[in-house]
Amino acid sequence: MLKTAPTRGIDRVLLDEETLRQRIKELGARISADYAGKPLLLVGILRGSIMFMGELMKSIAVDCAIDFMSLSSYAGDSTTGNVRVLLDLRGSCEGRDVLVVEDIIDTGLTLDHLLALLRTRQPRSLEVCSLLDKPSCRKVDVTAKYVGFPIADDFVVGFGLDYNERYRNLPYVGVLKRP
Ligand code: 5GP
Repeated sequence: MLKTAPTRGIDRVLLDEETLRQRIKELGARISADYAGKPLLLVGILRGSIMFMGELMKSIAVDCAIDFMSLSSYAGDSTTGNVRVLLDLRGSCEGRDVLVVEDIIDTGLTLDHLLALLRTRQPRSLEVCSLLDKPSCRKVDVTAKYVGFPIADDFVVGFGLDYNERYRNLPYVGVLKRP
């Protein structure tokens, strides 16, 4: 029997709460070891990363600050990767060890654009931690150093991820029912 019963509109639970919690703990331990002695700036990408960010922070043992950015999805031609910054960082990332916290990498266009932008601000280091990754959907060569779960090409919601602003509050990641 499933530990978590799927909500209406959800085809199946892909990652239940316990699985997410365990894996995020492991990511936090790896990040803590890699950044030992280095203050870290976590940059959460709104809005999909909020639950992941909250859970991940609890497992990071090094001194860390948080900041957020919000990016518009590319409109129209998805191959151009035309991404706009809707909300920018409050602070500077110059000379700092920056870890971008993402919900999911799909084509990689959003992340590619974001990393190019952040590089111009001269961080000391710049890496990515993404809860989910769909490697089969990539249109540009971008990778995250830390990945929670590689997944197949399904549209997933929950644990911060939405469909038309719904489902973000689900405590698990589920596959949306196809219409
Ligand atoms: P990319 O630029 O890598 O194609 O897309 C990244 C963004 O698209 C993610 O941050 C997320 O907002 C959205 N996205 C991509 N795949 C999914 C998915 O399966 N479910 C949801 N809810 N959003 C997705």
